[in-house]
Amino acid sequence: MIKSPRGTRDLLPPDTALWNFVEAAVRDVFRAYNFHEIRTPIFESTELFARGVGEETDIVAKEMFTWEDRGRAESDKGQSLTLRPENTAGVVRAYIEHKLWDRGLNKLFYIGPQFRRERPQKGRYRQFYQIGAEVIGPVSAGSQSPARDAEILELLATLLDRVGITNWTLELNSVGCPADRARFSEALRQALAPVVGKMCTDCQRRAVTNPLRVFDCKVPEDQPIIETLPTINEFLDDACRVHYEEVKSILDAVAIPYVENKRLVRGLDYYTRTAFEFTHGALGAQNAILGGGRYDGLSEALGGPAAPGIGFAIGEDRLVLSLTASAESVVRKPDVYIAPLGPGMNREAARVARELRRHDLVVDLGDESFRLKKSFEAADKMGARFILIVGENEVAAGAFALKNLASGEQETVPRAELAQRLLRK
Ligand code: AMP
Repeated sequence: MIKSPRGTRDLLPPDTALWNFVEAAVRDVFRAYNFHEIRTPIFESTELFARGVGEETDIVAKEMFTWEDRGRAESDKGQSLTLRPENTAGVVRAYIEHKLWDRGLNKLFYIGPQFRRERPQKGRYRQFYQIGAEVIGPVSAGSQSPARDAEILELLATLLDRVGITNWTLELNSVGCPADRARFSEALRQALAPVVGKMCTDCQRRAVTNPLRVFDCKVPEDQPIIETLPTINEFLDDACRVHYEEVKSILDAVAIPYVENKRLVRGLDYYTRTAFEFTHGALGAQNAILGGGRYDGLSEALGGPAAPGIGFAIGEDRLVLSLTASAESVVRKPDVYIAPLGPGMNREAARVARELRRHDLVVDLGDESFRLKKSFEAADKMGARFILIVGENEVAAGAFALKNLASGEQETVPRAELAQRLLRK
């Protein structure tokens, strides 16, 4: 038997109804905040991620699905391509390629699959889905304003509430500017020097290459040491401090709760200021539903003009896992199951079904070869509200037997009144 590749999965009905429920709710919320959809390719040149995500990140160093594309001619050297491991780099590439700064501030969202060769476990897949958004534009359009950070965070709170996730925690921090981080890195290096020998091998490497990444460490024995390290907030310059205070004061004004996590860092140079994560207790080890932050230097890192931005990516798989709503509760069941009874009745049933579906009723139907018992069983199994019997006598009389499957009540309804009868709850 051929199975789906490791770390991938089929999303089947009725679960797909939950995914659609989430995506419809999310689209509504984005509309209310004047965000518009962008769709970028699922693969991009490898260089985009090397530069846009960072060579030293786990994603780029270990987790990308990369291949050498064939050149046009035998002698052509192919281009290195990669399945996108995230979508921000693609959006910023599109921003630069299409000179989107001409539009002022861009408020863009995307929904789609991402690919990382990670060790699969519950809530972690090699093909997973992200719902994300980016606010990016020239400084003159207000792209640097703390109001945009607060708007994004408030949007996220609204979005989670809207899909029925209430017990989330917003963890917030500011990682300052590159200059702040350089001073911080130096301080970390000094603080780590006497203790790093007792830490895990990953941390020993990080202490040399990028000390900020020590905060990514999940090894329990290292945590007491990490607790004693200096934190970034002591190194913020005045402008960054004011920006962070303003984000928090807007959040307070709109009553969005948050906890400050001074150890939340995004380690790359183009990450600036606001960094955040929303977590959810029910998810266990993979408890981050979404993460995001400012990346004021990313466009320039990709060869574009200065274009401050802020964005986030929600793990849709994890969002769906944390929903309390069940697939059964959001799936729309058939309003009526039509049972054609006897030879020639498939034609009649098709005509009735077509009439009813024009009224936005959900209609399913059986086959004239089915005995009535089999049709009832099928209607029951799919959870139809009513069963409608279409036999020769009914067609001749222009009225059909309609039975409510929950109450067992049966009535005879003239053909012209069927749709109205079914639309009544
Ligand atoms: P990141 O792009 O790493 O900041 O991740 C943003 C969000 O995507 C995380 O908070 C997770 O919810 C989700 N995510 C990241 N990697 C995976 C994965 N391999 N499987 C499922 N969800 C993931």
